[in-house]
Amino acid sequence: SSTAGFVVGADCVKVIAVVRPLIAREIEANASEALTSSDDSVLTKSGRQFTYDGVVTGSEDELRETYDANVRDIVEGTLRGLNGSVMAYGQTGSGKTHTMGMGGDNPGMARRVFETLFEAVATARVRDTEVKVVSSFIEIYKDNIRDLLVDAGDELTPPVTIRENATEGGVYLNGARMIEVNNVGACVSVLNEGILRRATAESTMNVRSSRSHAILTLNVKCKVGDAKATFAKLHLVDLAGSERVTLNENRGQRFQEGVQINMGLLALSNCISALTDVNRREWGHVPYRDSKLTRLMQDSLGGNSRTVMFACVSPADINADETLNTLKYASRAR
Ligand code: ADP
Ligand code: MG
Repeated sequence: SSTAGFVVGADCVKVIAVVRPLIAREIEANASEALTSSDDSVLTKSGRQFTYDGVVTGSEDELRETYDANVRDIVEGTLRGLNGSVMAYGQTGSGKTHTMGMGGDNPGMARRVFETLFEAVATARVRDTEVKVVSSFIEIYKDNIRDLLVDAGDELTPPVTIRENATEGGVYLNGARMIEVNNVGACVSVLNEGILRRATAESTMNVRSSRSHAILTLNVKCKVGDAKATFAKLHLVDLAGSERVTLNENRGQRFQEGVQINMGLLALSNCISALTDVNRREWGHVPYRDSKLTRLMQDSLGGNSRTVMFACVSPADINADETLNTLKYASRAR
């Protein structure tokens, strides 16, 4: 239901479970499928059932369908000044990067978002709307922001910080490289440039990319004649792996990483459940300030903005524990 332009209730956050097929390494490990899915629910072997706004297999056809049904409208809304976010949550290896299309090897959500956006931009320009789209691409690792569009290790590069501007577009990244994009190809270039830097860091810093949140943001400014411009943001977020820190890892640096990354995911969960809970949304506090992730997404979660969270899971019995954690997290988000 919506009131005075504000999308409220279940409409503001949608959760879609993506149950990918078994992959080679699971088949080699003799894993078998431990989940049964319907259109809107997932049943585990242990007999727990979870309901979502949708459940898909992760085939390109089903990802396209769920894009058309749940994401397309969010993208088009940016030209009406409505913020949005599309995120993927799940353990490492569950299919987050594949679903988002933020690994460079399959279309995923990112490519479709770019296509819809520039179709909408072309339509708006025909109607004499001035449109400007500017992109940024960052990674949040251990609650620090790193610009994926700038080479690391440049001492002269100022740190990227999160600021707020009440008149022009709300929360923004101060000091991040902003690239104006005018077509799908330019967006794909920005995406690939960031993906490459993320992968480079991974080879020198082990599992960094699975422990960081990657956030590609499209800032859309629209202006018709002398009217006031509208500003909107769309975040595409490939979240850090949700897996628990294991016992051997529970020491020193790895432990620190685990704690800080889960802080972002925990803060996200707390914000989303506060938003989807009518009483708390109206009277209470949404804890955006608890992490950089939620601070940055503050004005793209709740209010008049819309969020789709893809909860990605492996169907394999050998991943049943982490899968159950994801299914629970995702049903709490809803
Ligand atoms: P994550 O980003 O959550 O760590 P990935 O997206 O990298 O996971 O996926 C892990 C592996 O599973 C990759 O080899 C990927 O190609 C494969 N995969 C993920 N999702 C799908 C899918 N929907 N269909 C087929 N293979 C998939
Ligand atoms: Mg990934």
